[in-house]
Amino acid sequence: MAAEQTTAIVLRAIEFSETSLIVTMLTRELGRISAIAKGARRAKSPFEGSLDLLAVCRVVVLCKSSESLDLLTEAKLHRRFRGADRSLERLYGGYYVAEMLRLLLDDHEPHPEVYDLTIGTLQRIDGDGNVAATLAWFDLQLLRLLGHAPGTDRCTECGSACPSAARVPFSLEAGGIVCNRCRTRQRSTLSIRQPVLGQIRQLQRPGLQAPLEIPRDLYGELRLILNRYIQTVVGSVPRMQAFLPMMTKTEPTA
Ligand SMILES: [Zn+2]
Repeated sequence: MAAEQTTAIVLRAIEFSETSLIVTMLTRELGRISAIAKGARRAKSPFEGSLDLLAVCRVVVLCKSSESLDLLTEAKLHRRFRGADRSLERLYGGYYVAEMLRLLLDDHEPHPEVYDLTIGTLQRIDGDGNVAATLAWFDLQLLRLLGHAPGTDRCTECGSACPSAARVPFSLEAGGIVCNRCRTRQRSTLSIRQPVLGQIRQLQRPGLQAPLEIPRDLYGELRLILNRYIQTVVGSVPRMQAFLPMMTKTEPTA
């Protein structure tokens, strides 16, 4: 059993026994891990306050080689997620990020760029960033980093050029836009406006920083297509999708 010291973001903590928690965390070096924190529910816990949802902490983990759970032996709070003190929109935005990472990642597969993306996203949500724009950027960057980027340039099925009409068919099962010939073979397609397609293309560009805002007339359609696409990728409806901002404006926080 190797002891690993790393920085982690808490994605979920569930009660395991009267005194313990099972904590799912995203780490930079080890990927996502689930570890048991013994004694974490005791009044005088060695983990005091460090295992709250979306807290960033310094942890020591004993990684088991077999199927059994890793063991969390130390956690020191580095930064708390304060979305709940600011607004429901920011709190739910944080919950959404945690849910997406639980749905899309596998344990013990390191994705340092996903970790950095998550830290950047939480800083914006917890700070003054526009929540709607930050989450659309987070979704598209995350999908790209995990190999699920929607196809936006040529027909996702046959590779031919797509017509430059005002609206283009987007196939959920093919995972991107399709030409008129391939469209007839798709079970379900959405129709997407060119400027919205342009936004998707832009938001998934490698190295792009989170945008300050997304044009108001594009956001609703962009969010709708993203939601349906993500449902197809994960095979279920993420619970927090219903709580995503409907408009791109973020109320100023006190
Ligand atoms: Zn085609």
